[in-house]
Amino acid sequence: MKPVRTRFAPSPTGFLHIGGARTALFSWAYARRHGGVFVLRIEDTDVARSTPEAVQAIIDGMNWLELTHDEGPFYQMQRMDRYKAVIQEMLAAGTAYYCYTTREELDALRAEQEARKEKPRYDGRWRPEAGKTLPTPPADVPPVIRFKNPRDGVVAWDDAVKGRIEIANGELDDLIIARADGTPTYNFCVCVDDWDMGISHVIRGDDHVNNTPRQINILKALGAEVPTYAHLSMILGDDGAKLSKRHGAVSVMQYDEDGFLPEAVINYLARLGWSHGDDEIFSRQQFVEWFDLDHITASAAQFNTEKLLWLNQHYMKQLPAAELAARVAPRLAARGVDVSAGPSLEKAVALYVDRCNTLNLLADAVETFYVAVAPSAELLAQHLTEEAKPAIADFAAGIATVAWEIPAIAALIKETVGKHGLKMPKLAMPLRVLLTGQAQTPSVDAVVELIGREGVLAALQKNL
Ligand code: GLU
Repeated sequence: MKPVRTRFAPSPTGFLHIGGARTALFSWAYARRHGGVFVLRIEDTDVARSTPEAVQAIIDGMNWLELTHDEGPFYQMQRMDRYKAVIQEMLAAGTAYYCYTTREELDALRAEQEARKEKPRYDGRWRPEAGKTLPTPPADVPPVIRFKNPRDGVVAWDDAVKGRIEIANGELDDLIIARADGTPTYNFCVCVDDWDMGISHVIRGDDHVNNTPRQINILKALGAEVPTYAHLSMILGDDGAKLSKRHGAVSVMQYDEDGFLPEAVINYLARLGWSHGDDEIFSRQQFVEWFDLDHITASAAQFNTEKLLWLNQHYMKQLPAAELAARVAPRLAARGVDVSAGPSLEKAVALYVDRCNTLNLLADAVETFYVAVAPSAELLAQHLTEEAKPAIADFAAGIATVAWEIPAIAALIKETVGKHGLKMPKLAMPLRVLLTGQAQTPSVDAVVELIGREGVLAALQKNL
């Protein structure tokens, strides 16, 4: 069995977006599943659009998702000599040839073909054939180099996602593999790379499916083993349209900024076009154990933000409180909130995690414990009623001496409402408002316990 070697081959022209991250995840997981090697290759031959910042953004995204590569990053721009050497070998072997057709001649050819209602294509005028006499090369035309694509038969492969695909060779014209200035072209570089890097499985987006027959022919001409191809269907947005920048957070790092956990994003991406029965929640390790190419769906996967939020909350709840606090702390610090003077952040996040499905919302919720609470006049008017005030004063008196634990605090609240003949909310609501500035909080006894005796007394006395 050939060792499994997969690659992720992004073009560094932007962020690592959700679609790219899924391709990277599947390639990574397949290598891990089979004890193979995962290669990172940067396809930076489009020099006008490739930037070092984009390379960094892609690497940052992969690091955030912990999709560690074993080899690379290899940069195509650093491999030019190798591509050129392979082209020379192909010229020598007769699998590639110089073509001196000028732009004007190609335009004229196209016009003739269109007039005859034919598909425009290179007519092979410089293609060497047995018994054919080629024109004399013009001295003033720098030639391109074309691949001598087989004329007959079909090129076929069993796509691990799409099933068998067959293309008649007659449909493919002779691809330019080096431009007149000598630079090799994209499809050719991919072939040399996949060959040199020993790639056994090419897992990529199905926007590349049209390149595959050409790449297979080139690989065969090179005497390279043809890898298994798995073309992943596209991802649609929540609204069913193709996922695009219009859908907001398409860069994976945007999800980090928005308060998603990488664990949740990984689990979410894993289910985007792949399934293991009805399983929705599984760890990265479990995914690696289960992942195979057979259960990737050929139909488009649809993004579902609600589901991602649901998974995110699940993983937030799974985290030990100390870890959850550690992930919220930098978000509060970034807002200039100092948690050192307030109650335990660990306890605060544990108390609020049931109500928040992102780290940012959790930071919003607990922030109140570390900043000066200023209840709005409206909330005060609504809840700090004349009948509540004596009960609050009584409660404050009790607070000074009560044992500092939730059951004792709960008992004190109960006792106070009983004594004043009030219904529970008549005391609980103003307490919430005075202590947090909010009418909605978790159980008020837990909030009181969290804030601490001093803090509670200060907040209540200020308002009485
Ligand atoms: N560089 C291509 C892209 O970013 C991927 C090519 C491939 O996987 O073969 O879409």
